[in-house]
Amino acid sequence: MSKQTSSTSPATVKISARGASRLKDGHVWVYRSDIVSADGVPAGSLVSVVDHRGQRLGSALYSSSSQIAIRMISQEPVGDFPALLRQRLADAIAYREAMVRDTNAYRVVFSEADFLPGLIVDRYNDILSMQILTQAMDAESVRAALVSELTERFHPASIVERVDPRVRQLEELPPRASGLVTGEKCSTIFTMNGVQFHFDALEGQKTGAFLDQRENYAAAAQYAHGEALDAFCYQGGFALHLASLCSHVAGVDSSRPALEVADKNAALNQHDIEWIEANAFDLLKDYAASGQRYDTVVLDPPAFAKSKRELDAALRGYKELNLRALKMLRPGGVLVTCSCSYHVGQTDFIEMLADAARDARRTLRVAEVRGQSKDHPILLNVPETGYLKCVIAIVSH
Ligand code: SAH
Repeated sequence: MSKQTSSTSPATVKISARGASRLKDGHVWVYRSDIVSADGVPAGSLVSVVDHRGQRLGSALYSSSSQIAIRMISQEPVGDFPALLRQRLADAIAYREAMVRDTNAYRVVFSEADFLPGLIVDRYNDILSMQILTQAMDAESVRAALVSELTERFHPASIVERVDPRVRQLEELPPRASGLVTGEKCSTIFTMNGVQFHFDALEGQKTGAFLDQRENYAAAAQYAHGEALDAFCYQGGFALHLASLCSHVAGVDSSRPALEVADKNAALNQHDIEWIEANAFDLLKDYAASGQRYDTVVLDPPAFAKSKRELDAALRGYKELNLRALKMLRPGGVLVTCSCSYHVGQTDFIEMLADAARDARRTLRVAEVRGQSKDHPILLNVPETGYLKCVIAIVSH
């Protein structure tokens, strides 16, 4: 991989009129099918982008293998990407200082939404976890700038890298193991909204916890009461926030390792929560059929639609879950229902919920329509940066 220095001027990539018009609309991606010429452009390099007439459109990071060939980083010429990365990192940190409250765990860098496409950095108290998703971010000079800037800013006990092997394969990058980048500490305890969580940097899904739900946990806690069920509870994010407000809380997940951490989290916060290892679809079906009732139900399943083609099947899955939950809720009961599928839009999701309520013969009032926490900013012209939906609704009768 070529090293970027200020002395080498970037190669030029020419894109089609369609690609250029997408950029003029504010998006930052150009697909491979819109590349007119990229002859001899090194994998993962900083490039200058021009339209079919040769007019300069700005600077981008180039991938030789991804369908997303170009990710724009500036409308201006950029000579030294590692230097720009340091500046963008400082901006991302300042944004969190202004926006994030009541937590020492949050997303520090959210890729395109922080103008650092292909990079994710999460903070869990004194451990930073980074994910590199593109050829350009994998360059040694970029990694070095990233680690040095993060160390200077946070003085973390350690920095770990979480590797998604599938992403490295798609980017045609050599395999690499997850592990410590600096320091030796692999586990810690972090606090959000006054609730404590165990964090193990090298286990768990994603980068260890679902930070995007942080503000929704606090919102759900404003309505929760009585007997509560947290379906798809993972390590107990919602359940732990509800435990001090509800008479009984049960959390359901199909993953035993996730429930083991959930149980440790309950002990850490001195809560008594019932953890059930089960397929949530089957459990909700059985409970609904046997007349089980709740006052609060949380539904936070994994993404059902991984592509647009799966939208209909995903909506059927969401409807089945929501229908069963609604049947079990007592009058005055609270439904907290989420979807993290980007391909299921907010309108689709609300229509699905209306359908489910009609079929369940329940009348629902929407208390809140929410999205992801503010440390996962949504860049308005890059719709892919917004994916999480969370509706809080009250059953009237
Ligand atoms: N609510 C959680 C995040 C849920 S992520 C939080 O806030 O932290 C989705 C979870 O669904 C994962 O923990 C996964 O193990 C679980 N899961 C996936 N399929 C499942 C199924 N069929 N039944 C129960 N749990 C399932």
